[in-house]
Amino acid sequence: MSADAVVVGSGPNGLVAAVTLARAGRRVLLLEAADRFGGGLRSEEVTLPGRVHDLGATVMAMALASPALRELSLKGVVYVHPPVAAAHPLDDRPAVLVHRDARRTAEGLGRDGRAWLASAGAIARAGFPLVDLLLQPLGPYPTAPGVFARAAGFGLAGVLPVTTFARRAFRTVEGRALIAGMAAHSMLDLRAPLTTGYGLLLASLAHLVGWPVVRGGSQVLADALVAELRSLGGEAVAGHRVRRLAELDAPTVVLDVTPRQFLAMADLPAGYRRRLERFRYGPGVFKVDWALDGPVPWRDQAVAGAGTVHLGSTLEEIALSEAETAAGRHSPRPYVLLVQPYAADPTRGGHTLWAYCHVPNGSRADMTDAIETQIERYAPGFRDRVLARHTMGPAELEAANPNLVGGDIGGGLAGLRQFLRRPVWSPAPWRTPLPGVFLCSSATPPGPGAHGMGGHQAARLALRS
Ligand SMILES: Cc1cc2nc3c(=O)[nH]c(=O)nc-3n(C[C@H](O)[C@H](O)[C@H](O)COP(=O)(O)OP(=O)(O)OC[C@H]3O[C@@H](n4cnc5c(N)ncnc54)[C@H](O)[C@@H]3O)c2cc1C
Repeated sequence: MSADAVVVGSGPNGLVAAVTLARAGRRVLLLEAADRFGGGLRSEEVTLPGRVHDLGATVMAMALASPALRELSLKGVVYVHPPVAAAHPLDDRPAVLVHRDARRTAEGLGRDGRAWLASAGAIARAGFPLVDLLLQPLGPYPTAPGVFARAAGFGLAGVLPVTTFARRAFRTVEGRALIAGMAAHSMLDLRAPLTTGYGLLLASLAHLVGWPVVRGGSQVLADALVAELRSLGGEAVAGHRVRRLAELDAPTVVLDVTPRQFLAMADLPAGYRRRLERFRYGPGVFKVDWALDGPVPWRDQAVAGAGTVHLGSTLEEIALSEAETAAGRHSPRPYVLLVQPYAADPTRGGHTLWAYCHVPNGSRADMTDAIETQIERYAPGFRDRVLARHTMGPAELEAANPNLVGGDIGGGLAGLRQFLRRPVWSPAPWRTPLPGVFLCSSATPPGPGAHGMGGHQAARLALRS
């Protein structure tokens, strides 16, 4: 097919870019290096036959909140919610629970309930207009009155390091631990600016849209987007890795790749090349998928209903673990992010779960034992439930998806510098100096997450050009 636009890479950003262009009447060709579409949305039977594991994203808060995905009604995609959005177990006291309902969450936080409602709760109450602004930070802007005032309030708190915010806003061990666990998704040292913003945004989404999973696995969402593209006349080809831009023949090219790959693909003007060479990748992750013969034996049974579990105890312990990673070391007691999709979705062939911890970029260390020890701390007897496990360190993650450079699942460090220059300082950072060529991966605004908004913004820019 002779295409008006070629999209390279089929992560959520590439898929949304392709669908956005096709809906505007462009003939789109989507090329994907892997044998399956989806990038961070892929699911595979990596442990035992019939067990569906998400290789990347499982928790679809960002997808549900995404202005781009909200407007598509995708056939076969059903979001299912666990009874509890997230849990944060503690050693010597009951776990802290995040419910869809902000008030119920606040009740569980006791003396910190009001602080929760005034922070995460307030962002959720501001609703989609504020979230839309955060997910498309460079416009087009929502017009609802008061949005910018609320955004300014969020921005003032959000820019703080979460170690500072947690101690100022919360008084209890529970409240401080909870916001630290949320903020640690950012993969930053928790003493870094903006960590509060990342934590509060994620927490507020639990109240606004919930933290659901896709029934049957995240691959269902990827496949539905491919089907949507094809229904609009687009073509999608898997198993085709693009090595040089010169291979492509179309007036518009949208690349779901990160700066390092772009540098290898194209001859770029020296100034832009130097700016991309300064782009920094963040820590990597070490991920384990398990097939279990039953649910995780949590000591606190309330954790069993949670889709996501943050392991790492107090603010101080999580901050120490993330500081170690940021300094290039392996934490002996790492912060562990665990997802048990079976709490919401019984269709994945049994009790499957995954967890990862952060490691220095490119690390070769095997963190299986450290991760399982953290799980055993809150769920004694966990290892006895394991039927099979599958591990992926940075090298395996990058081999499966070249965007995960050194195991960095965020598409580049999310600190203040690269919040502003993602990947370059520009009112339209998706645009490149090459005519008709755009970047759309999570190395562009609004950054990581299965929202597809980088793709949406890049495609809209391409259509306007
Ligand atoms: C283990 C893990 C857990 C995660 N958990 C969550 C979660 O629960 N919720 C959430 O919202 N987000 C989560 N994320 C993050 C989320 O998956 C990513 O932010 C998102 O997938 C980024 O989308 P993308 O389109 O930019 O790139 P990707 O999804 O990484 O896709 C890029 C695609 O481009 C392809 N590609 C790259 N180079 C080429 C080339 N030269 N030629 C052809 N194809 C190419 C790759 O093969 C890949 O398919 C997780 C990520 C990982 C890895």
